[in-house]
Amino acid sequence: MKKVVEKWPIYINGESIHTESHFVVENPATLEPVGYVPDANEKEAKAAVDAAQAAFLTWSKTSAYHRAELLEKWYTIIENRLDEIATIMTLEQGKPLAEAKGEMKYASSFVKWYAEEAKRNYGEIIPASVASKRILVQKQAVGVIAAITPWNFPAAMITRKVAPALAAGCTVVIKPAEQTPLTALLLVESAHEAGIPAGVINIVTTQKPGDVSDVWMNDSRVKKITFTGSTPVGKHLMKKAAETVKKVSLELGGLAPFIIAEDANIEEAVNGLIQSKFRNAGQTCICANRIFVHETIEQPFLQAFEEAVLTLKVGNGMEGADLGPLIDGAAVKKVRLQLEDAASKGATIHNTSKVDEKQGHFIAPAILSNVTDDMLCMQEETFGPIAPVSTFKTDQEAIDRANNTNFGLAAYVYTESLNKAVAYSDALEYGIVGINDSAPSTAQAPFGGMKESGIGREGGHYGMDEYLEVKYVSMQLG
Ligand code: NAD
Repeated sequence: MKKVVEKWPIYINGESIHTESHFVVENPATLEPVGYVPDANEKEAKAAVDAAQAAFLTWSKTSAYHRAELLEKWYTIIENRLDEIATIMTLEQGKPLAEAKGEMKYASSFVKWYAEEAKRNYGEIIPASVASKRILVQKQAVGVIAAITPWNFPAAMITRKVAPALAAGCTVVIKPAEQTPLTALLLVESAHEAGIPAGVINIVTTQKPGDVSDVWMNDSRVKKITFTGSTPVGKHLMKKAAETVKKVSLELGGLAPFIIAEDANIEEAVNGLIQSKFRNAGQTCICANRIFVHETIEQPFLQAFEEAVLTLKVGNGMEGADLGPLIDGAAVKKVRLQLEDAASKGATIHNTSKVDEKQGHFIAPAILSNVTDDMLCMQEETFGPIAPVSTFKTDQEAIDRANNTNFGLAAYVYTESLNKAVAYSDALEYGIVGINDSAPSTAQAPFGGMKESGIGREGGHYGMDEYLEVKYVSMQLG
């Protein structure tokens, strides 16, 4: 187990590097320091690309079986160090330890899955229009990949990108979120332990993300940017990518509708909603943001939902809480603002539990009823534990209101009717639709958004295609 409150190194070309200055990583539950990490600048950013480019020349030419074997070893080491890394994750991010362990399992599942998928990078032979020609299609690694990740899933957002990139034969430079770099550093340390060669995975931490990303975005050796985070930063990176026509994958914000139809099983809907809304204290991109319940079942639903929320314990994630703190003071302020806005526009706030909000960045979960679509909580991603409930009269109304947003990541529908399930999943403009399923994300399925929620997919064979160029070889025979 790594000793906490120490200076951690970053990794470039397989070497541990320290910079002149370090910055603190703070525990959002206690506001105490967890560790100090290098405050890298342009010099380290460029050195990381130098290393990744040099490593690409050999790594991309290794056999898929060799890369699969190394990914399998990385998976085993992550599994062996799961408790240790999960503990660091809870300390720096705040989520309950059980959730941190769950995230580690989810994160490692991508390494395992892409270890297997590495061997299935198939091409095609297409019938030519003349007998003297052969048309071959082969897939080749894109090159050096820049990966920028958020704080809400400090492990999974790394492996969802790095595992398919490595399986495809790419090399990577990573910049994790400044709030949660320690989990990312432990994952890269584990990759080196597994024997993944120097330069294949490089990682820098910084308090100046724009400076580091500018170096990467301006460097034509970086062939792709893969980003998970907020929509404004995603748009900024997309513009920057245009300069050198980099490939772009963006996993951005969401505003998920959670629709409970007239015929839904209320108990199952409430169980699903608790999981979707309050996991990671509501700080997930696919968490229920707008709850639409059919007007005829509003009262029994609200009663069951309130009873369930009352059982949730808010506190330090190391001490058995169901909900930890939010990531920082700004996150708490945003949630408070949404609550005030909703109250001022006529919402009823059902406060469902109490927390000592003076210590750490805690906020109590709350249910809001009598909610209307003009309230901030129905228009902006909340990223916190408040659950706005609004009623609808017809399925078409629910669909129209659910689609009336620029976001299109995940949507949920609870219904006992097969016909309704098909009608909703056809009509919802979302990359992911959960039917009676509030936890749809899994390594083998495509995860990603429509509209301003993103471009590209992570997971499944779709996730590996993001790191592969399609090359067409036309052969004229003699
Ligand atoms: P953020 O955009 O502020 O930060 C994400 C990353 O971008 C961090 O590493 C940060 O340092 C970096 N960054 C910030 N400014 C930058 C700049 N100018 N240039 C380059 N990099 C910069 O987002 P966040 O607050 O860390 O994360 C929350 C957001 O992430 C939410 O909107 C959430 O929905 C989204 N998210 C989406 C998914 C998904 O799969 N779609 C998954 C998790 C989180």
